[in-house]
Amino acid sequence: MTKVFYDKDINKAALEGMKITIVGYGSQGHAHAQNLRDSGYEVTIGLRPGKSEDKAMEDSFAVKSVAEAVSEADVTMVLLPDENQPKVYEESIKEYMKPGSALAFAHGFNIHFNQVVPREDVDVFLVAPKGPGHLVRRTYEESAGVPALYGVFQNVSGEAGDLAMAYAAGIGAARAGVLETSFQEETETDLFGEQAVLCGGLTSLVKAGFETLTDAGYQPEVAYFECLHEMKLIVDLMYEGGMENMRHSISDTAQWGDFVSGPRVINDETKSRMKDILEEIQNGKFAQGWILENQAGRPRYNAINNNEYNHPITKVGQDLRDLMPFVKQPAADGKKGGK
Ligand code: NAD
Ligand code: MG
Ligand code: MG
Ligand code: MG
Ligand code: MG
Ligand code: MG
Repeated sequence: MTKVFYDKDINKAALEGMKITIVGYGSQGHAHAQNLRDSGYEVTIGLRPGKSEDKAMEDSFAVKSVAEAVSEADVTMVLLPDENQPKVYEESIKEYMKPGSALAFAHGFNIHFNQVVPREDVDVFLVAPKGPGHLVRRTYEESAGVPALYGVFQNVSGEAGDLAMAYAAGIGAARAGVLETSFQEETETDLFGEQAVLCGGLTSLVKAGFETLTDAGYQPEVAYFECLHEMKLIVDLMYEGGMENMRHSISDTAQWGDFVSGPRVINDETKSRMKDILEEIQNGKFAQGWILENQAGRPRYNAINNNEYNHPITKVGQDLRDLMPFVKQPAADGKKGGK
């Protein structure tokens, strides 16, 4: 179980007395800046002239050029649009950071993809709220918070983790929960895989194919072999040698069909549904729903499990597998898992 940190768990002293500069005053920037100030920290804003600057000044912040603000900071949080960060980093941050200070991000993109290569004499950490900036601010004002992931990329001071957690607490995230990113990442990718591809994606694909054929009047046995049984044979080829191996084995007609029809089934719309699923995993909605489902005695789980078991593909599959002794009979049927 991933450790979730709350206010009581966090060493606030790590950030005490530090000057924090927020670079950018957009969605995340205005929220981090105001929340940190309300949490008692000294905050300045680094910006170029423009609308955001007016807004920051209206909100009574000391606004400076990025370079000037960074040069005075113990912690520089970069809340520019991701695509602007490399250029601004090179021009106005890199050479201006105090040695031993900290460089922070709310999203790992630029560090992860080497678009920003940080100086080696600074801490580099991530505090990524799992919610939009305006809610980071609104929930803070409501004495609540948006959860955040924290992570450390470079730990020069030896305290980058504590610093990141204290920063997360300063923006109110520790009211909702702060998680170390590597654990979270594993969980998110595992959930995404089983839901979108391996389990949910696969069963839905098989059923949709089976139903399409049987609805059109084809024999269920033929549909079963075509859409379920043969799946394993195809997947084995992919497992052993990738898609190229599978495509090498199938007929050119099948391969042409793969190319022209596959993308009509799994298309941009499907991919955008996958993104929705990933977001719900990341923001905890899926996990929360499953926990509540168990607390409630699994009413939906059992109902869906029962419906699934009663799908025509189950019966025809059982009958056909009985006649294929080489196919291992499963120890459990589909009803197992209902508790
Ligand atoms: P935004 O577009 O809302 O705001 C960007 C700010 O940077 C604006 O104040 C803009 O004036 C300023 N800016 C842009 N170019 C600049 C330049 N060259 N010099 C100085 N200032 C400049 O950005 P955002 O959505 O708050 O995103 C900031 C970071 O937070 C990104 O790394 C993003 O991935 C991350 N993040 C955002 C959200 C969110 O809710 N929007 C959630 C999690 C993480
Ligand atoms: Mg993002
Ligand atoms: Mg997000
Ligand atoms: Mg065939
Ligand atoms: Mg071939
Ligand atoms: Mg099970």
